[in-house]
Amino acid sequence: MAEKMVDKVKRIMGKPNNIRNICTSAHIDHGKTTFSDNLLAGAGMISEELAGKQLVLDFHEDEIARGITIDAANVSMVHDSEGEEYLINLIDTPGHVDFGGDVTRAMRAVDGTIILCDAVEGIMPQTETVLRQALRERVKPILFINKVDRLIKEIKLTPQQMQERFINIINNMNRLIKHYSEEGHREKWLVNVNDGSVAFGSAVHKWALSLPYMQKTGITFKDVIDAYEGGSQEKVNELSKKAPLHSIVLNMVIKHQPNPIEAQKYRIPKIWHGELESEVGKALLNCNPNGPVAFVCTKIVIDKHAGEVAAGRLFSGTVSQGQDVYMIMSKKQVRLQQVSIYNGAKREPIDNVPAGNIIGIVGLKGVFSGETISTNPDMEPFEAIKHIFEPVVTKAIEAKRPSDLPKLVEVLRQVNKEDPTIKIEINEETGEHLMSGMGELHLEIIENRIKTEKGVEVVTSEPIVVYRETIQKPSQEMEGKSPNKHNKFYIKVEPLDQAIYEDIKSGEIREGQVKKKDEELWGKLEARGMESKISRKVRDIFNGNLLIDNTRGIVHIGEVIDMVIEAFQDVMSNGPLAREPCAKIKVWLEDTKLHEDAIHRGPAQVLPAVRDALRGAMMTASPIIFEPLQILQIEAPIEYMGEISKLIQNRRGQLLDMHQEGEHLTVKCKMPVAEMFGLSSDLRSATEGRGVQYVVDQLFEKLPTELQGKVISKLRQRKGLKESEGGIAVQA
Ligand code: GDP
Repeated sequence: MAEKMVDKVKRIMGKPNNIRNICTSAHIDHGKTTFSDNLLAGAGMISEELAGKQLVLDFHEDEIARGITIDAANVSMVHDSEGEEYLINLIDTPGHVDFGGDVTRAMRAVDGTIILCDAVEGIMPQTETVLRQALRERVKPILFINKVDRLIKEIKLTPQQMQERFINIINNMNRLIKHYSEEGHREKWLVNVNDGSVAFGSAVHKWALSLPYMQKTGITFKDVIDAYEGGSQEKVNELSKKAPLHSIVLNMVIKHQPNPIEAQKYRIPKIWHGELESEVGKALLNCNPNGPVAFVCTKIVIDKHAGEVAAGRLFSGTVSQGQDVYMIMSKKQVRLQQVSIYNGAKREPIDNVPAGNIIGIVGLKGVFSGETISTNPDMEPFEAIKHIFEPVVTKAIEAKRPSDLPKLVEVLRQVNKEDPTIKIEINEETGEHLMSGMGELHLEIIENRIKTEKGVEVVTSEPIVVYRETIQKPSQEMEGKSPNKHNKFYIKVEPLDQAIYEDIKSGEIREGQVKKKDEELWGKLEARGMESKISRKVRDIFNGNLLIDNTRGIVHIGEVIDMVIEAFQDVMSNGPLAREPCAKIKVWLEDTKLHEDAIHRGPAQVLPAVRDALRGAMMTASPIIFEPLQILQIEAPIEYMGEISKLIQNRRGQLLDMHQEGEHLTVKCKMPVAEMFGLSSDLRSATEGRGVQYVVDQLFEKLPTELQGKVISKLRQRKGLKESEGGIAVQA
């Protein structure tokens, strides 16, 4: 009897050279789900007939209703290439940028990504976003140009024009790779037609070609065009037999994507900041199955039978059922109830799995995505998984029936775990909880899920914008006194240097507390203009703000510094103007006077003193409100140009670029998030349903002066704050 597929998977999972961990990523509607189904069908995981129809990777009901993919699910496939068998672990990620959280997390688990691009539309805003996300995690991109049938049937290109179009897409992609990747990868990771790191084809018609494959088989561009000529399905089917998509693509993956042993050598220093020479460090760099267990959870799926299944990447060690492990950030010890691999989209429990695989684990009670699991309780956790955009829209959410309140709290905690790009603030006293996400649609979908999947009826407020507070000049030094008057803190603030701020935002400089010697961080800060004697005094980098301990000879500083950091983070999350998060602030702790006796300098004394000094200092530094804006790309037929311009103007938008290709119009504009509510429906009605909009980028800019006072008092009112702050009128 032939070997069962699941046994094949089990056999190859122990041969890391023959493993590839990848994801597909693309702009919405460029064909990712169809493409993934093709791969699965080709590898014998679902029937060929159903591929393209079944869309096995879309399983949430609202995904089906909206026809878009939201959740990343994992599937594993076995593929033969030149007499060798390979295990390909594939994560399918969503295209809609509001749900970028899934993409971000998937990128942590994989080493390579197939960027899918519609041949007609070319590189679109979300293609760029997912590519940026990948490069940030040192995930290597390769390119698949999809929907080539459209070039022939719809725009009737000649072989020559077809090649030109491909070259254009490839050049655009390489330009982005050059721009967003780090030195050392910049040149090596460019895609290239000649070496076969680019393929093209049609996912619905199940064929694909690469230049090396064309040379080997003698198939030409003309053959492709001929296959569509006359509209006979038979000839297209023939093409898919001669050049089956799954086979060409999986061969490309095997040849051009790294195996886990190669990839971990350069990815670990980027995503893990412990000592590389330590036992764990070496095991991680070498993907050692005999090292300590090091697993990162990248997704939590609620399974009706098993409960919470934590899917993620095992970077080192071997996990087994019944093993005791530590959840590093939660500081908990747990026993693994079940360890599983994937066979197609099906989870298969198994006794143990070695490093280098994407697996599912049951028994990690209370786990969240981004958590590190290890057999070594002192292991340095993996770097937090960050999205390139921040949550900028908030809705208050309440249970319709008071009796549902405990259930709602439970559900919100769960939502927070499933989607870390959603930020939840639970207020059990008032019952009014806040839910922040990356856009209106993002929150709408979460709200729907709470209603339909979790069965809790809720009422929500209108969406509210999340602003930022910042300062425009250096402050005076301010004193903060503890309630018992025995402790004093002296603090000043100034705007954080642009270069440092930008690199914190891009992830180049990482956030977090600085507890030990950190030559790498010091080097980066110094390269951006900070004096070396100052860089060594940086204690914390938090949400784009930085804390420097500039005190000297304070005997007890070591005992209070953690409290100073806590107060710093608190104020940076709740600024003085309107308790909105702060950004781009450099905080100097200049001096402190502490009570001799530890009992008189506890948190109840230190926290308010530091907070007062810090907020006071900010109030003397010309504090102002920044508002979130988005760069949008709007696509529509040319005849709606006037309507679209009006729409942009009416919403405080700024036109950045307008581009016409045939009858098709592409407009780029910058618009405040505060003006974007209801934009998609207004755009639809202005263009008779034919206009669409995409987010290209997010940024913060100064809220116009005439709106500052109004926005601040509205925010303060909403939060039940006094009209003024510490005797200083709040007016920018
Ligand atoms: P996703 O949003 O990226 O997952 O895209 P889907 O796989 O759902 O595909 C979006 C639409 O494009 C569907 O209507 C597909 O049938 C269609 N599609 C996918 N691949 C091709 C292709 O190669 N050619 C054409 N003409 N349409 C395709």
